[in-house]
Amino acid sequence: MKAIAVRDGAGEPELIELPQPEPAAGEALIRTLRVGVDGTDHEVIAGSHGGSPAGDDYLVLGHEAVGVVEDPNDTDLEAGQLVVPTVRRPPNGDNPYFERGEPDMAPDGQYHERGIVGDHGFMAEYFTSPESTLVTLSPDLAEYGFLVEPISITEKAVEHAEASRSAFEWTPESALVLGNGSLGLLTLAMFEHRFDRTYCLGRRERPDPTIDIIESLESTYINSNETPVPEIPDAYEPPDLIYEATGYAKHPFEAVEALAPNGVLALLGVPGDWEFEFNGGKFHREVVLHNKALVGSVNSNIRHFEAAVESLGALSEAFLSSLVTGIYDLEEFEQAFVDDDTTIKNAVQFSSYEERR
Ligand code: NAP
Ligand code: BGC
Ligand code: ZN
Repeated sequence: MKAIAVRDGAGEPELIELPQPEPAAGEALIRTLRVGVDGTDHEVIAGSHGGSPAGDDYLVLGHEAVGVVEDPNDTDLEAGQLVVPTVRRPPNGDNPYFERGEPDMAPDGQYHERGIVGDHGFMAEYFTSPESTLVTLSPDLAEYGFLVEPISITEKAVEHAEASRSAFEWTPESALVLGNGSLGLLTLAMFEHRFDRTYCLGRRERPDPTIDIIESLESTYINSNETPVPEIPDAYEPPDLIYEATGYAKHPFEAVEALAPNGVLALLGVPGDWEFEFNGGKFHREVVLHNKALVGSVNSNIRHFEAAVESLGALSEAFLSSLVTGIYDLEEFEQAFVDDDTTIKNAVQFSSYEERR
């Protein structure tokens, strides 16, 4: 079967030939429909995040998949069911995090991530996965099912952000999303009906398709070149929730100060090293004297995937079709990895749901 992989140090993906996998006990064989590409894939391809499985000098890419059960094997799944796999797997048999159903809370070394670190991903014509790692979805979600994984990332982050405010009566009205990439825009769409007012920060000039999407979500676009994060409270308002999806390492410090009293900052970005100066006293004082919370969040568990299936179903076709800028067949897979101002969310299509159902 064909797969899309990156060889160690190559810096670009390539098409490779692999044997079709055999499902082990408790696993199903899945025929891949579509696999999305995000900022993490670009970091993995560039070699700045993740790594190949031990003993291999290549990594099959892809962690945002949707597929169809081809062979249920000994599981309770049924052939033809639409499924989305979670990302993390235990490296050497279960550990307490996986046993508790909280692989997303496992520290470095106690997980592999398919398509990211230590385990091959889903960008292949077929993959196998344990039944416990697969969420089922209804056929009408086949087209955009590859968005369940990124949506689950925000389900988790928001759950943790809200949990950090659960000790008092927190009634957030406004939310600011930092970043107009695919994760930022998906999150903004999820926030449309959860907050009275939303804002999204980018660094693009008009005309730009992401700004059009932001405005179609009745949100306010903030250009960080004109209004950097520290100026947002005066120019707009201090937000109750800030969701960081830029990977820009100054944003955490700026955002804590921009938050409303009792607000919460959720950090999602994964930056490289960057040393700079900041006023640590002001930062420390702000967090304490205004009861602010700062929550880091990575990955997601099966409960977040289940919530994400619901959230995906609630997103409008108009939004989804403007977010997804390209679906590319295997023959033209390179196109899916183009990262410029015209691409927002791309996916590779391995097979079609309708044709082979
Ligand atoms: P992405 O497509 O690269 O999006 C990042 C966006 O932030 C881009 O649109 C970029 O603008 C914008 N940006 C960067 N610096 C900025 C600045 N200083 N001011 C304003 N805008 C800025 O990546 P993504 O897939 O959406 O993911 C976002 C981040 O979350 C990445 O760091 C990724 O690694 C991380 N991530 C984390 C998790 C997790 O589990 N924690 C899950 C998924 C992704 P331009 O496009 O104009 O450059
Ligand atoms: C993936 C997560 C993963 C994170 C860190 C994200 O792009 O969606 O599942 O935990 O990267 O590798
Ligand atoms: Zn991702």
